[in-house]
Amino acid sequence: MTTWEYAPAPESRDIANLKPSYRMFLDGEFVEGGGEPLKSINPATEEVLAEVSTADRDDVDRAVKAAGRAQEEVWGPMPGAERAKYVYRIARLIAERARELAVLESLDNGKPIRESRDVDVPTASAHFFHHAGWADKLDFAGYGPDPRPLGVAGQVIPWNFPLLMAAWKIAPALACGNTVVLKPAETTPLTALVLAEIIQQAELPPGVVNVLPGAGDVGAAVVGHPGVHKVAFTGSTDVGKSIQRSLAGSGKKLTLELGGKAANVVFDDAPLDQAVEGIVNGIFFNQGHVCCAGSRLLVQESVAEEVLEKLHRRVATLRVGDPLDKNTDVGAINSREQLTKIQELVASGESEGAERWTSPCPVPDKGFFFAPTVFAGVSQAMRIAREEIFGPVLSVLTFRTPDEAVAKANNTPYGLSAGVWTEKGSRILWMADRLRAGVVWANTFNRFDPTAPFGGYRESGFGREGGRAGLEAYLDV
Ligand code: NAP
Ligand code: MG
Repeated sequence: MTTWEYAPAPESRDIANLKPSYRMFLDGEFVEGGGEPLKSINPATEEVLAEVSTADRDDVDRAVKAAGRAQEEVWGPMPGAERAKYVYRIARLIAERARELAVLESLDNGKPIRESRDVDVPTASAHFFHHAGWADKLDFAGYGPDPRPLGVAGQVIPWNFPLLMAAWKIAPALACGNTVVLKPAETTPLTALVLAEIIQQAELPPGVVNVLPGAGDVGAAVVGHPGVHKVAFTGSTDVGKSIQRSLAGSGKKLTLELGGKAANVVFDDAPLDQAVEGIVNGIFFNQGHVCCAGSRLLVQESVAEEVLEKLHRRVATLRVGDPLDKNTDVGAINSREQLTKIQELVASGESEGAERWTSPCPVPDKGFFFAPTVFAGVSQAMRIAREEIFGPVLSVLTFRTPDEAVAKANNTPYGLSAGVWTEKGSRILWMADRLRAGVVWANTFNRFDPTAPFGGYRESGFGREGGRAGLEAYLDV
């Protein structure tokens, strides 16, 4: 097969405006934290990008108290129309600094510049725009005539969409009149700290947003602080469960966005070339580090061979490599730890008897990379069909009837997302009714919009982010 030769088209890393060190953002100022500084690395090269100060328990206490004061004295009493102006300003400044944020995100996280530029950063800005619009219309959101904020929100986010997850968390909190203490992930703190710069540039009153980098213990201190009224967590199911246990009886409002093992269901009447694009986007977008990734492909038996063949041909053209190169489709795995986890699960797939196919594409020898991989002949009992791999690895299963497709799709403890590919509208509705997932995409996958609520149930968590439904998590209703 012929593939086109491309000349490298790297985005310049100077655009990221990288600084040798970053400090945490507390009560309106950038200050040294009391914790041991961490080093954030570029997963594509393993070089240290910057040193980042981290918070200790005293810093968490000061941040929560600053957020409490700011909420009671300034942000809570402020009319919604005034709050909206600040939130709009954040949205505009993200758009203004979009290139800088995109390059920085790709350096720190490893995701391709094409995605940080076209998805993460514009969607982050869109979340602030959307929620700015709600700030003066909360009376009409369907939660009563004068819905009140909750107070201080303690928020903990993962490394897969560092800026976007910060936006998902901060925008609705601010629009509803809450203040924020946010802990970004240890491996990807940089864009959240540039967002803090933007928040300072937008002249938000001190204490309204605080960003405290650090490890899991800082996250635990934030969510456990008695001055926090609402906890929002995105991350693994295990940590989510431990947070839920630790908050039991505290009266704090909690939302959890956790893992997933989504089924992407392809019927034999689907436009197969289009479906293949959707399958590729579903599992190879963001190196598969996506909680709602379509990691289980369920394909109708009559077209299984054809789909698999088309899939191999298409996946072999994906370019793996330098995240800053505009031609790159699949970037670096975020950390050595995550790479090891992917390798371990892939080895289990082989030893349990699934047929492994890995793209013959060239892979850089420095940094953390994993070539796109497709397992056929997967049975429901295998670990690669049950556990979240969180990497560029697809497990393919087959079905004969719609009932069997539903039964297999729902055979998971998770319930975050699902996809359906078929020409038949009635079948889409029939499936959507039966699939136990928070989001069901029809003839598309991995679509995100601030107006559409996102979230799961069962082991994928509870509560919604985005849209009118997402406001509930930040209001006393
Ligand atoms: P993780 O280990 O749960 O970490 C998530 C965040 O929690 C990080 O900031 C982490 O800090 C912090 N943390 C760790 N232990 C904590 C504790 N005991 N108390 C409070 N905070 C703690 O998850 P991950 O492996 O980094 O992220 C991947 C997972 O997130 C996947 O399972 C994925 O499905 C899920 N995810 C879900 C969604 C969704 O919307 N449903 C979106 C994205 C990702 P450190 O960085 O220091 O570990
Ligand atoms: Mg990093």
